[in-house]
Amino acid sequence: MFEIAKQRLGEVFKHIEVDEEVINRLSVPKRSIKASIPVRMDDGSLQIFTGYRVQYDDTRGPTKGGIRYHPRVNLDEVTSLSFWMTVKCAVAGLPFGGAKGGITVNPKELSQLEIERLSRGYIRAFADVLGETRDIPAPDMYTNATIMGWMADEYSVIARRQIPGIITGKPLHLNGSEGRTQATGQGALFCLSEYARRQGWDIQNTTIAVQGFGNAGYHFARLAQQAGYRVIAVSDSKGAVCTASGLNIDDIKQFKDETSELNSVYCDGSVCNVIEHETLTNEELLEMDVDVLVLAAMENQITQENADKIRAKTLLEIANGPISPQADEILQAKGTQVIPDVLANSGGVTVSYFEWVQNRSGFYWDADEVERRLDKIMRREANVIYDLAIRYQTSLRTAAYIHGIDRLAGAIDQRGNHK
Ligand code: GLU
Repeated sequence: MFEIAKQRLGEVFKHIEVDEEVINRLSVPKRSIKASIPVRMDDGSLQIFTGYRVQYDDTRGPTKGGIRYHPRVNLDEVTSLSFWMTVKCAVAGLPFGGAKGGITVNPKELSQLEIERLSRGYIRAFADVLGETRDIPAPDMYTNATIMGWMADEYSVIARRQIPGIITGKPLHLNGSEGRTQATGQGALFCLSEYARRQGWDIQNTTIAVQGFGNAGYHFARLAQQAGYRVIAVSDSKGAVCTASGLNIDDIKQFKDETSELNSVYCDGSVCNVIEHETLTNEELLEMDVDVLVLAAMENQITQENADKIRAKTLLEIANGPISPQADEILQAKGTQVIPDVLANSGGVTVSYFEWVQNRSGFYWDADEVERRLDKIMRREANVIYDLAIRYQTSLRTAAYIHGIDRLAGAIDQRGNHK
């Protein structure tokens, strides 16, 4: 996966000149760590989990990126995600490098107390390499504000003082930021709105299907509907629901939550439990004839297997890496536009940056302030990228990479000695 992720760089170097040594520096992670995390389970047994943290590049600032809990987490995946975080932070112009972490675990099989012990164990295992000016974690797939709160607490126990800026995406009552939960979905909507404005779309008649109803997908769908778009289908891992006239996103969310039988950290209810709508499979949702297909589930959803079946003319990547490079080529040949992950989902880490700034200054902003600043950054960077795509006659993805790599390569070069 990492080798494939790096292929995108080749495309960038066709358009901008980057020093060979800088390219070499950018081709490998700075530091990769694997650790065992022993956890006392509720039945008294001891289970050993494997955790990772990859700090890809810290030239532009302390490394930044989420921690993922998933049965398929491995070093290759975490490395790719840390590489994308590096590009993403540069694309958004944040003073951060990129990192990512993860634990190989199916968190839905653990009790709430076991998840808390596992999360605290992760911090104990990696405390030496973390720090508010070194490496700052955040939520990712199957981790959330509750888990960030436990992690921040564990770190303060180790450090014997309060350092809220060690981690972002914390609960509001534990020095979190207004707007962080909805930031990824909201940032993606700003990118789409800017794109729609430039294309002259009629919002009321623009139909959207959203794959994924987790934190990012749900908030995107809710805010898109609020902005006047017609969100006609949404899905989760169990399947999809659709209605041509448009769905009521809040009702669906309520149904999903109410039908969950898990503890308060996770939800295993489904959008499919909403009875009065037509149900579809996830594959059918991807192939719907909508104006915008939003990919908010996980990586590798559109591959060379299904790329030519995609009918939407515009794809918005809220997940990291949902389209494979081969699929990208097929889509590009068909004239499909992809608003790429490193731009479209950068709202999450941007508000993480705001949280970190607030933690370090001790002065907290209201929701309007967060939204106003996010709006400004997202629209600014989106327009730079949309303009670059025209100037270089490239896909939006290549334009986004050109933008990010240009900042990153410049920083590596100016530091000297290419360290
Ligand atoms: N996990 C999110 C991402 O992939 C957010 C990272 C952060 O806020 O540091 O962008």
